[in-house]
Amino acid sequence: MNKKSAIRITTVLLVLALAIAGCSTPPASKNSPAVPVVIVVTATPEPVSPVSATEAATVEVISVEPEATAAEATAPQAAVEQVTATASAPVLENQAMGLNTEEAAALLFMIEEEKLARDVYNAMFATWNIQIFQNIAGSEQTHVDQIGSLISNYNLPNPTQAPGIFTDQSLQALYNSLVAQGNQSFNDAIKVGGAIEEIDIIDLQTRLAQTDNADIQLAYNNLMNGSYNHLKSFVNTLSTQGGEVYSQQYLTAEQFQTILNSPQGNGQGKGKP
Ligand code: ZN
Ligand code: ZN
Repeated sequence: MNKKSAIRITTVLLVLALAIAGCSTPPASKNSPAVPVVIVVTATPEPVSPVSATEAATVEVISVEPEATAAEATAPQAAVEQVTATASAPVLENQAMGLNTEEAAALLFMIEEEKLARDVYNAMFATWNIQIFQNIAGSEQTHVDQIGSLISNYNLPNPTQAPGIFTDQSLQALYNSLVAQGNQSFNDAIKVGGAIEEIDIIDLQTRLAQTDNADIQLAYNNLMNGSYNHLKSFVNTLSTQGGEVYSQQYLTAEQFQTILNSPQGNGQGKGKP
């Protein structure tokens, strides 16, 4: 057994040595790719016993496939090129943070827009004492918190201030005009709610298309599903309690109908009423 193994190893080494000697190229080093060498050694069966004959018939194959060598040599280089291409892409301005300036600005804007919804609904609840405003204001608080978590995770400065006060001046102006409008009548207040949800949906859609970060996409989709449900709640309330058919104010008629026909409750921030 040992003797036979020794013979086999010797045979392999001998043939290997001959093969290398037959090659004019030096052995493979780190810098020079290995020259494909295929060595098949078949040990001569010894007619001693059936067991050893079977073992002796084992085929030793030492092969370096040319294709494999080529693939191994080029694969790391391709990976490096890919990384370089990604790093130099203009989308990623701040790779360490994983956010570009557009994505960062979107988070800072959206947290204030969700806060605007919360603040207006709280103001409308104070004026009209209708439960729908208190319920949806609670849902908007969870939306503010979701964006707030992202802002915190990305080490951005949280722009939110006291209720009714906004860092973004366009949102400050919007808040002022919506509260003034909503204080005029109950139906106006419900329409103000609908307007906020329509604006929210449009702004979320725009910013969803501008980000490739999965955590931000998830949050925006949750908020959008919440807005769909809130909008449907305001539409129903205007009809049942205000006796008026809601007409879309910012969405297209087609978008509006699609939302009205969408199934309820597929979002985290679904309407509670
Ligand atoms: Zn919301
Ligand atoms: Zn909402």
